[in-house]
Amino acid sequence: MTTEAPLPDKPLPVIDAVTQPFWDAAAQGRLVVQACEVCGHRQLPAAVTCAECGGRALGWVDVSGRGVVHTFTVLHRAYHPAFADELPYNVSIIELDEGPLLLSNVVGVPAGELRIGQQVEVFFEPVDEGLSLPKFAPAEKRSSD
Ligand SMILES: [Zn+2]
Repeated sequence: MTTEAPLPDKPLPVIDAVTQPFWDAAAQGRLVVQACEVCGHRQLPAAVTCAECGGRALGWVDVSGRGVVHTFTVLHRAYHPAFADELPYNVSIIELDEGPLLLSNVVGVPAGELRIGQQVEVFFEPVDEGLSLPKFAPAEKRSSD
């Protein structure tokens, strides 16, 4: 329908010095998590200190991009008008195989069929110049791209 007004742009992540490496990797199609160089703890979201030991020596490591749905909610109202065309959609917390939790969306699952514990795999959705969002799809339905 070309007569409809275009939807407003979706809000984009606010990127700062602490989270920049995460988004740089995502733009390259890599999922990374922070890794403490003192105790080995892996964490998301990025922080200036390790949530386990308080250490400040934090690096980044690539992870598999695989995990399970830890929990989710399904939105049936557009709390931001830019998402109106996607209703209903889920906001999910993915528990990565390596441990950290990541807030995202699972796509490719019919409304009402998403389940806690479902195996998912990351893919990256380009949304702006140099910016891609990590999203997830059912692991068994992913193509081998
Ligand atoms: Zn630590």
